[in-house]
Amino acid sequence: MTNSSTYEAVIGLEIHAQLATQSKLFCGDATLFGAAPNTHISPITLGHPGTLPKTNQKAIEYAILMGLACGCSIEKNNYFARKNYFYPDLPKGYQISQHTTPICIGGAVAIKTTDGEKNIQLNRIHLEEDAGKSIHDLSETDTYIDLNRAGTPLIELVTEPCLHSAEEAFLFVTEIRKLVRWLGVCDGNMEEGSLRCDANISIRLKGEKHLGTRVEVKNLNSIRNIKKAIEFEIERLIQITETGGTILQQTRSFDASNDATFSIRDKEDANDYRYFPDPDLAPFHLTQESIEALRATLPALPNALQKQWKHTFNLSDYDVVQLSENKEEVAFFIRMTQLSKRYKAIANWMLGPIRAYLNEPNAGYEKLYLALPYLVELIELVETNQLNFSVASNKIFKEIITLPQSPLAFATAHHLLQSSSSDEIENWVHQVLEKHPEKVMEYKKGKKGLIGLFVGEVKKISQGKADPKLSTELLEQKLAE
Ligand code: ADP
Ligand code: MG
Repeated sequence: MTNSSTYEAVIGLEIHAQLATQSKLFCGDATLFGAAPNTHISPITLGHPGTLPKTNQKAIEYAILMGLACGCSIEKNNYFARKNYFYPDLPKGYQISQHTTPICIGGAVAIKTTDGEKNIQLNRIHLEEDAGKSIHDLSETDTYIDLNRAGTPLIELVTEPCLHSAEEAFLFVTEIRKLVRWLGVCDGNMEEGSLRCDANISIRLKGEKHLGTRVEVKNLNSIRNIKKAIEFEIERLIQITETGGTILQQTRSFDASNDATFSIRDKEDANDYRYFPDPDLAPFHLTQESIEALRATLPALPNALQKQWKHTFNLSDYDVVQLSENKEEVAFFIRMTQLSKRYKAIANWMLGPIRAYLNEPNAGYEKLYLALPYLVELIELVETNQLNFSVASNKIFKEIITLPQSPLAFATAHHLLQSSSSDEIENWVHQVLEKHPEKVMEYKKGKKGLIGLFVGEVKKISQGKADPKLSTELLEQKLAE
């Protein structure tokens, strides 16, 4: 008897990312999202006879940057090819794409699964232009066409069939979205269609080497839907196999209203797109120097930063993953670590009070940068037990950001410094023991765990100013009398 654990899912993803260029891949039309329909459609976009496309160099650079960040090798001798097919929103009757020479070859992107890090192998990344948009929901009877999007530069990133669960696909697309945003080559906004994904899914018996017949779920427009569509398909393909059916090679679509996929068409054998080199576009060649010049502009990447921080700052996996989520946060964290070696404390402040502050209205990094030396001083005061953390984060942090000022001066003026004067602490200890005679009895009878309660009480009446180590010592002394 077979069951679902007998099977292995095999998934390959094709991710389309719109490049964040100002203008289209082969003409000066704006790529702006949300413009009035059919307002960015020059004769070149429309493919009128006699027009000549001209390649946008920025788009080529962006594709190369993405390839370098993924460890791909970069093709030096490139040409664009026409991929011929008919579609209502494809005004030229062909799409300009790359065929035998994708600009980026191979490479891999690491994801962090619960079983550890896994490298997802890429097959290629190629450049192509986007089609226009068919709008089906404005009219009962007609389809409207908006060609603004036609000609927008895309990279298509194609993985090897090496993903094995919906969760892995989810992590991978999340990582790609983070990466394109990090590099600034695509805004990654899936709800606006800047990043879209087709998922190819098959199943096979575990241990089997051959690939099974695949289905392709087209145009998934959120990471959640990618996961749901794959989960649904794996289950469906197993059902078909278990009940003796045959899996058809199909193109399917995802219906988010019931979390299910449905067939759009049975895929015939390979489509014949009659590819040929675009005669209006000269082949383009890249030199090693130009590739190296681009490599030099690559920002430090999250995965590399994580490794480095783990190693040099001795931070946990959790901390380094959290701290490499966004570029502004990374820049600020790095700045702090240049001013102080209290790496773990800085990490805690970044992920605690600083993040909480940044979520507030009108908060921003400009203010944090202005207060930077004082922030470092504040952390130092806590680390040297001159200030209690909750007093520092709740009572002083905001003050030094609103008005950059020395936290030491502020704490002194407001009597917030942790007291290490034993007279003062002795006084608080005395008050606490007076207040809880029955607890003192219990402690003396052997309930030593009550020390925590006494320390807490001292902290409370001193409003956080009593150095907890000193108060513990004094309390223990007094209770032993
Ligand atoms: P096409 O261009 O016809 O869509 P490709 O061979 O370029 O086909 O593959 C597209 C994607 O499908 C790739 O990500 C590839 O890894 C994946 N893929 C191909 N065959 C299978 C299969 N049997 N099961 C799962 N994924 C597959
Ligand atoms: Mg495909």
